[in-house]
Amino acid sequence: MKSRWTAPTAEFGGDALAECVYGSRVLGSHPDLVLHGGGNSSIKDRARDITGASREIIYVKGSGWDMATIAPGGFAPMRLERLRELLGLDQISDPQMVNELRCALVDASAPDPSIESLLHALLPHRAVLHSHADAVVTLSNQLEPAAHVRELYGDSVVVVSYVMPGFDLARTCARLWPEHAHAGTVGMVLLNHGLFTFGETMEVAYARHLELITAAEEYIAERRLRAPVTPSSPVEVEEGDPTALASFRNDVSRAAGRPMIVSRYTSPRVAQFLGRRDVEQVLSRGPATPDHVIRTKCLPLLGTNVQAYADAYEAYYERNRKNRGDVEMLDPAPRVVLGPPGLRTVGKTAKDADAVRDIALHTLDIIEAGEAIGSYTALPEGDLFDVEYWELEQAKLRLGGPPPPLSGQVALVTGAASGIGLACARHLARLGASIIAVDISDKVCTASDGPGWLGLQADLTDRAALQEALGQGVDRFGGLDIVVVAAGVFAESAPIPEVDERIWDRTLAVNVDSVLALFGQVHSLLRLSPTRARVVLIGSKNVAAPGPGAAAYSASKAAVTQLARVAAIEWAPDGIRVNVVHPDAVFDTGLWTAELLSERASRYGITVEEYKRRNLLSAEVTSDDVAHMVGAMCTEPFAATTGAQVPVDGGNERVI
Ligand code: ZN
Repeated sequence: MKSRWTAPTAEFGGDALAECVYGSRVLGSHPDLVLHGGGNSSIKDRARDITGASREIIYVKGSGWDMATIAPGGFAPMRLERLRELLGLDQISDPQMVNELRCALVDASAPDPSIESLLHALLPHRAVLHSHADAVVTLSNQLEPAAHVRELYGDSVVVVSYVMPGFDLARTCARLWPEHAHAGTVGMVLLNHGLFTFGETMEVAYARHLELITAAEEYIAERRLRAPVTPSSPVEVEEGDPTALASFRNDVSRAAGRPMIVSRYTSPRVAQFLGRRDVEQVLSRGPATPDHVIRTKCLPLLGTNVQAYADAYEAYYERNRKNRGDVEMLDPAPRVVLGPPGLRTVGKTAKDADAVRDIALHTLDIIEAGEAIGSYTALPEGDLFDVEYWELEQAKLRLGGPPPPLSGQVALVTGAASGIGLACARHLARLGASIIAVDISDKVCTASDGPGWLGLQADLTDRAALQEALGQGVDRFGGLDIVVVAAGVFAESAPIPEVDERIWDRTLAVNVDSVLALFGQVHSLLRLSPTRARVVLIGSKNVAAPGPGAAAYSASKAAVTQLARVAAIEWAPDGIRVNVVHPDAVFDTGLWTAELLSERASRYGITVEEYKRRNLLSAEVTSDDVAHMVGAMCTEPFAATTGAQVPVDGGNERVI
């Protein structure tokens, strides 16, 4: 493992917090060491408080911060002396400990300190790093958890048997430390959990971390070379079948009690793992580290029987609930699913599903390595249950507050590279939806970013391209709940005798025919939406109030509006609502250039400003106004409305 440390310690100029931020980020940049919130760090310092008294301070990583991106504000500064006093207690409950840690802060606005703070406080060294490194976890996830660790590290590390993180773990370490630590101690291995290293500087703590992990990796690699090869015939990973995936997402969402994102991932690596003869057996043993259970649950689902998985989960809950008092059962839906369609991961958002995918892929490696050096073994389910239902972990998940209204839902938006389509896509994303954004322009790929945005360049008049885009979208997010049709062309104006046949055909092909094709392809997916699906068509004022010279455009918008009305009738039995917005004079779109605007304004003998507000309310209508109406049509306010046509035009006498 190569060091990524480049800054000389002198560079920090004695700024302990800056040193700690740097060290944490460097450690966090190794995904094999720190994965999605795993791991933490601390540094001890001396500082004067407001009275001028000199105090020993410990900065510990705040709960909920990611090591890779942590900033100084992500650390919680506490009075070290107070933390060490707390270690003298025999017993303290989790909420009491959290309260005491907050009371030890020297900055009232600091985040909640890590639940492993007391463990950091007891170590005498100035700089401390902690990770859940794959290699260390592999060594100890064995029938005899300490055997490989002791063989490899001898007495250079203190070995601690598994204890649930929090006060009990800190107390256990406090008891073992004086007995086993000596001048040559460079680390502490928490079996089935992870690694601590320490030193006078972050650089030393980091170097020791890499040293111990590299040794573990070499130890594992050597034994893997000698281990008999487990028979495997890679399974043929199936092509994605959008309807089957959407149906599966429906099952998962029903079990979860809310719409969930289901993301499919395939690779030769996954196919090879699935082809192991003992695949069922090794996958039934549990997660690599207990803190994964809050994201992945204890076990993956092999196959597609969600109901059987949920029943087994309920039985697990019933077997273990007495351990943790009166805890309510969490949703019993699986988070990791393996089978012929590859790996599917489940989350409330695409970001969550991606985190589960990363953890699952690391877990497959850890299982394989563990099997090669011995027998991969996870903790007993009682220990896993304790972490899954630990109120401090549940509090971490609740940190973000209630989910936005479209959380877990998937929206397809056409014409999403610019104008009204882009505004709709962004607004639905703000409401929590994951977006399949389609446009003929490749700008759609970069019009937004983040795990909840899939930009796809496709010509909607090409049925095969449309099908391909839908397949990719469903692979990425699992299904479809919302369709917003915003793609459209506006032909150059011409009086009827001069309408060019090709322009007429093109206008109808894009504005009408492609929508018929789209509706034809999405219906089977929308029917499988775990929520009641919604379609919103961006129409035009021209439907109710056509103008001269816009025959092709007006006729196409009238036709497609009628198509949407028929869809509203045909799809109502499936619970799918279809509504139409009719915008007018939205000038912040690609169609309108400054020249075109001034040309139009001068035609009416008014200024551009007046032209933009030529409506009853004298309102300037923007793409965002249209997007907000689309958002309303996709949420509660329109829950009992289908087949509606709502103008967003500032008021027009001819429409009213
Ligand atoms: Zn840990």
